[in-house]
Amino acid sequence: MPATATGNTGRLVIVSGPSGAGKTTVMRRVFEQATVPLVSSISATTRPPRPGEVDGVDYHFLAEEEFDSRRRGGEFLECFEVFGSGHWYGTLKSEVTTGLSTGKWVVLEIDVQGASAVMEQYPAAISIFVRPSSIEELRRRLLHRDTETEESLRRRLDRADAELALAGRYRYEVINDDLDRAVREICGILTKEQKSEADRYAR
Ligand code: 5GP
Repeated sequence: MPATATGNTGRLVIVSGPSGAGKTTVMRRVFEQATVPLVSSISATTRPPRPGEVDGVDYHFLAEEEFDSRRRGGEFLECFEVFGSGHWYGTLKSEVTTGLSTGKWVVLEIDVQGASAVMEQYPAAISIFVRPSSIEELRRRLLHRDTETEESLRRRLDRADAELALAGRYRYEVINDDLDRAVREICGILTKEQKSEADRYAR
């Protein structure tokens, strides 16, 4: 990974897990509390913005043609059609390289397909799987998100089982049955990783 002039090394932090596991809520709090210099990689997507979402903040909302032309131009580190919904999501290489080159810890909040692709390219990435306490809890969370149509809810739940089976590929697994605890646990993982990196440099 690129190092800065000060010797700081940027890190990649992959946060994944089934849709509705509460990744976004947990990570919002982690950003407030973490002691490492986190920056969010803003993904590109072809899905339309939900009410309140802002282009360039929540996502780079792209028309399908533009997403496709950027994909063919090799601008993505990874990109996938998530849930077979017809919507594409992808991590732009520029989001990652800019952060890493300035010593930041770049957080990718992405689906399990994207996570696998990034883990292959960056084996040193810190990968964290966020697991809901149960499938019932996942259903409850998705139902409360009243943006879900019946069809999209069913698709997300169908995929959840397969996604949960991939948890073993990640370096860490955090169960999101208690928000405060999950946030503390992730902050603890980041601090521990920072410390083991500092120890490596000290040797
Ligand atoms: P949502 O539409 O609810 O914002 O996100 C749906 C799913 O897409 C979530 O699981 C989210 O983590 C995933 N996702 C968001 N950005 C990316 C990305 O850049 N790449 C991949 N592979 N998945 C993403």
